[in-house]
Amino acid sequence: MHESTLAMNILEIVVDQAVKAQAPAVHRVDLCVGEFAGVEATTLVSCFAMLAEGTLAEKARLEIERIPAAGTCNRCGAAASRQGGIFRCPVCGTSTVRLVAGRELYVKSIEVENPSQ
Ligand SMILES: [Zn+2]
Repeated sequence: MHESTLAMNILEIVVDQAVKAQAPAVHRVDLCVGEFAGVEATTLVSCFAMLAEGTLAEKARLEIERIPAAGTCNRCGAAASRQGGIFRCPVCGTSTVRLVAGRELYVKSIEVENPSQ
């Protein structure tokens, strides 16, 4: 995953929202990142900080919420449990598991400064 491209996309969303809200600045951005999203959080945060310089999001704090991976069994539909890095169905023992969480990557919320009246 290319963190700088990602940071750029996030910044675009954030600045766009701030402009729409007529906010003078962005305080905080909450981002949800799945365990299997392939994103290096610290790299993303530093890329974001670098790109945000000179924009409305310059002083924004990027908070990353990690979403743990979860899967269900393809055969019987039971919730899969994880052993090490491998998902396995506790009911029928198959390892063909469909990932139902863990690949998320989205902006959950944006906190902006109130527009001056
Ligand atoms: Zn099963």
